Amino acid sequence: MKFTLLGSGTSTGVPLPGCACKVCTSKHPRNHRDRTSACLTLNDGRVILIDAGPDLRYQALKHNVGRVDSVLFTHAHADHILGVDDLRSFNFASRNRISCYGSADTMSAITSSFSYIFNPRPGYEGGMVAQLDPHVISNDESCVIEGTSFKLFPLVHGSMTVTGFRVGEIGYATDFNMITERAEQVLAGVKHLFIDGLRYEPHKTHVTIPQAIEIAQRLKAHRTYIIHTTHTIDYDEVNASLPPGIELGYDGLTIQCP
Ligand SMILES: [Zn+2]
Ligand SMILES: [Zn+2]
Ligand SMILES: [Zn+2]
Repeated sequence: MKFTLLGSGTSTGVPLPGCACKVCTSKHPRNHRDRTSACLTLNDGRVILIDAGPDLRYQALKHNVGRVDSVLFTHAHADHILGVDDLRSFNFASRNRISCYGSADTMSAITSSFSYIFNPRPGYEGGMVAQLDPHVISNDESCVIEGTSFKLFPLVHGSMTVTGFRVGEIGYATDFNMITERAEQVLAGVKHLFIDGLRYEPHKTHVTIPQAIEIAQRLKAHRTYIIHTTHTIDYDEVNASLPPGIELGYDGLTIQCP
């Protein structure tokens, strides 16, 4: 199994068009961060995508993602779902339908945002729309996707609930301002933890980098990668200041897991 971080940036991506700040004008590749998403490649080549954000097409080309068999959506914010239309490229390539998993709230928001895909009008004459099968999952249980078990947990993201998961030795907790008891239980002692850590200034719906560090240390994660970061985070500067075992995630970061 191989887990690849396809994007490590916040909802705007980094750099921001028109911004003249130090990070947005930096040539450092790790100061270029696509919208946060990831993929799990199974040993037989099947791919489970984690969110389908607006950068999906470019991320797939850049990181050689040639197929998508299933998608697990964490929540329905635009930076996590607006690549849904581009999933049809993978339908063309594989000639198979793609299973989409998310909580009831997430799937209802996605199916209404993309009603032309999920409830096409009779007589539609355009090209093929994405061929997607929605599946509702519960944040308080495990679910099996492509034969692989995901232990799910809820995260508090303002008024929204986000789906986090642990698959084997990988834990993934993006977009939250408050962790839940179930998340703490599922993630305790995890080997590789991907965790939201927006920036240093407080935010209503995201944890800060110091809060992410505190949570990672409490969970006793062996290695932690901070994701969903803004343009106030200079990769080299911030990465060098983090405690041992904790680093900034970056686009393309790949972990091989047994
Ligand atoms: Zn987000
Ligand atoms: Zn900037
Ligand atoms: Zn969000």
